[in-house]
Parts: sequence; C-alpha cells; structure tokens
Amino acid sequence: MTLIGFVGLGNMGGPMAVNLVRAGHEVTGFDLSAEALAKAVASGVRPAGSAAEAVAGADVVITMLPSGRHLLAAYRGVDDAPGLISSARPGTLFVDCSTVDVADARTAADEAEAAGHRAVDAPVSGGVVGATAGTLTFMVGAREEVFAEAEPVLAVMGGRIVHCGGAGGGQAAKVCNNMVLASSMIAVSEAFVLGERLGLTHEALYDVMSTASAQCWSLTTYCPVPGPVPTSPANDDYRPGFAASLMAKDLGLAVNALRDTGTVAEIGSRAAEVYAGFAEDGGAGRDFSAIVEAVRARSER
Ligand code: NAD
Repeated sequence: MTLIGFVGLGNMGGPMAVNLVRAGHEVTGFDLSAEALAKAVASGVRPAGSAAEAVAGADVVITMLPSGRHLLAAYRGVDDAPGLISSARPGTLFVDCSTVDVADARTAADEAEAAGHRAVDAPVSGGVVGATAGTLTFMVGAREEVFAEAEPVLAVMGGRIVHCGGAGGGQAAKVCNNMVLASSMIAVSEAFVLGERLGLTHEALYDVMSTASAQCWSLTTYCPVPGPVPTSPANDDYRPGFAASLMAKDLGLAVNALRDTGTVAEIGSRAAEVYAGFAEDGGAGRDFSAIVEAVRARSER
C-alpha cells in the first residue's frame, strides 16, 4: 500500500483517485471545490482540509489541476498557505498529470527536485471515460529511475504508459499529439462540408476516406458528422467528449512551444486560431468535433 496525496479531484482527478483507492492504496485528497472533494470522499478518498495536509506524510503526491499557473501556485504555495513542495517530506515522488506548458512542467520538476523530491510530468489522453475505466494513456517525462518508480502507480490509472524522455517530455508529446488532432479534425470537417456541396452523402465519403489515405482518428473514432460512427459526439448534439475550450487551451500550449522552439507550423498555428475563435463564438462547451458546424456556417455566408 502506498500513501498518496491527491490534489485536484475534478472531472479527471476524481475518478483517477478513486481507482487508486480501489487498488488498495490509501489516498488523501484535497480540492478547492467542496463538491469535488465530497464526491471523491464518497468513493473512499480521505478528505484533507488543505493541499498541504493532503500531502504531509505521503509517499507519492499526484496533482491534476487545470493549468500551469495552478500547478506552480500549488507547488510553491500562495500567500500564507504552504506549497506542496515544502509540505511533503523530502524524497517524495511528485507526479503531475495536468496538461501544462512544457516550460512550466520543467520549472515545476526543477523546483521539486531542488527541494530533494523526485518529479515526473505525466499528462494523459483518454478523457473522463478513460479516467473512470482506468485506461488512460500516460505520456511521461522523467529520468529513467524515476520513471521506473512512477510506473506502477500510473499503471493503476492507465492502460498505456509511454516514457517520452526527461522532464517536460510528457507535455511535449501531449502538445504534439493534440496539435495533430486539432488539425486533422478541421481537415476532416472541411472535407465533409466540401463533399456535401459536391453532392456526396456522408456515408459514401466516409466509406471511401475511412479505408483510403485520409483515414485517421478524427474520422473513424470521432467522426464530426452524425451517422457513420454511431458513438461519436456528433450523434449526441456534440456533447463533450473533449470540449472545444480544452482543445483551445491545449493549442495555446502548442503555440507557446512553437514560439519557444522557433518552429514554423503553419497548419498547427492556424488550427490554434480556428479553435480559439470557435471557443469565443459560443463553441467552448461543445465537443471539439462541432467545428464542422462552423465550417458549414462559414461556407453558407
Ligand atoms: P476540472 O476543472 O474538472 O478539475 C480541476 C480541479 O482542480 C477542480 O476541481 C479545481 O477545483 C481544482 N483545483 C484548482 N486549483 C486547486 C488547488 N490549488 N488546490 C486544489 N484543487 C484545485 O478539470 P479536468 O477536466 O479534471 O482537467 C484537469 C487537467 O487534465 C487539465 O489540465 C486538462 O487539460 C487535463 N485533461 C483533461 C481531459 C478531459 O477530457 N477533461 C483530458 C485530458 C487531459
């Protein structure tokens, strides 16, 4: 049994913490939202009165927070509230599963390690469904020996754990993956709208593209038009799934990474603009595949 301090028990963190409890670990949790904390406590997480209290005495500290700003504030502490780094006993394993900037992930890991801890960035893919089922994919940035230490804990919450390199490596892989995902969803959506205007049925175009060279996840798993893939959010009025606001946030991280590395990515940069605009124009809470409706609306003007 491992003593785990879990901070951030929201849509993702809540079910992840519960899976750790079910595997026999003792999990003490904290969330600023009383509602999120109560939900996790109802499934066996022990409540803490503060983030510092949740991690005092823990072997492993796991964070699942909205952004890098939240992560660094939690690690460092705010005003009089002590941070996680100073509240955990030296030598604790810090595992951050939030999606944050590569630069913030490296800063967080450096600060934790400078205080005598070991640190891992381990963002996930798989959404709330994967978090609940314990089938998340973890993309991990850590030194080899620290990765080996984190792997058994991550295996409780995930089905696939990929070591992507040193600190920040997990976030780097995540940002690249989601830049491709956004670009392919826009491309597939544009193809469907062009097909509609050329007189093709969705089914005919799907049957061709899904077995031809346009085949991709955005088409065959998350098909943006209703019909061809009955489980895709398009069949449920684009209820997320993966909200466009989260995609816009992840693309903001991609843009930061492009800038920081001097990488010219014309399609990825444009995808970031498209999703930022879509989120601002009322699409934030819809599944990101609803972008097809924006493409259609623009084409009808
Ligand atoms: P969420 O908003 O549901 O949960 C975040 C939780 O953190 C909230 O309950 C909030 O109250 C809590 N929180 C914020 N600051 C805190 C602090 N200082 N101390 C304690 N609690 C604090 O978000 P989520 O959907 O669970 O996403 C979490 C992370 O996972 C994000 O970085 C997101 O990008 C990433 N992610 C989400 C999905 C998804 O489908 N939801 C998929 C992959 C990755």
